[in-house]
Amino acid sequence: MMRTSRANRAPARRARLSTPFHLRVFIRALCYIAGFVRVTFLGTGTSHGVPMIGCDCAVCRSQDPRDQRLRPSIFVQCDDGLHVLVDTTPDLRAQALRHDIRRVDAILFTHAHADHIMGLDEVRRFNILSRAAIPIYTDAATTADITRVFRYAFDPDTPKGGGVPQLRMWTIGARFSLGRQEVVPVPIRHGSRGILGFRFGRFAYLTDCNSIPESSFELLDGLDCLVLDALRHKPHPTHFTVAEAVEVARRIGARQTYFTHIAMTCRTRPRAPRSRRVWPWRTMGSSLP
Ligand SMILES: [Zn+2]
Ligand SMILES: [Zn+2]
Repeated sequence: MMRTSRANRAPARRARLSTPFHLRVFIRALCYIAGFVRVTFLGTGTSHGVPMIGCDCAVCRSQDPRDQRLRPSIFVQCDDGLHVLVDTTPDLRAQALRHDIRRVDAILFTHAHADHIMGLDEVRRFNILSRAAIPIYTDAATTADITRVFRYAFDPDTPKGGGVPQLRMWTIGARFSLGRQEVVPVPIRHGSRGILGFRFGRFAYLTDCNSIPESSFELLDGLDCLVLDALRHKPHPTHFTVAEAVEVARRIGARQTYFTHIAMTCRTRPRAPRSRRVWPWRTMGSSLP
């Protein structure tokens, strides 16, 4: 589900170089008119990552790049050129280097568990490159957690010498716009905690969940592509098992579903492109509550 090796990257790079300039311009224009979003899976592993430290199981020792999963996050490129990061994992530096990410215009947080926020300090580099603060969008509970954990970043008295991430917090409730792109927060349950998934047009990202409220199913109507938590086969109190995820995916009925937040005990290796362009649902507002 993600770019994992130089060997994997090389063919795409060659293909891009061989695409005529006018065709690239045409494709870009088409993407803009149609409102595609391009999604890159930065990581699809569980909180420990795969391989896990000190584990000798077959998956953790595997040399197959599909068995090497960084912590879960996606990078969304909107049709108007806006670059959006969903969660900042402890692997963010490696993920940004691997995918040559040079700009982040906004960060969305699903929730404040360590595997989803602990890379936030790495965005200092994007502050320097863009010479701008980065807006963060999340719910009230995650806003409170992030401002507590990264207090130094929001405290005006913090000495600036060591470099402090420049951030602007925005607490969201309902749908909002990032440039031309409408983003729909999708409430989901992660054990006893209510967290957020996000929908961009016909694409939705639901990590870290073990149940979806009835009202949120309505927000997931008409998807082309769904990314859904499927931790492992054994039951877990805060994550869907593979069987549960399959059942939920069938009910949502997206044209394609990919699983994420996958543990090393799960040997499912879905083949997925490194990124997908997803046809947006520009008239989404008229059909959703
Ligand atoms: Zn997680
Ligand atoms: Zn979590």
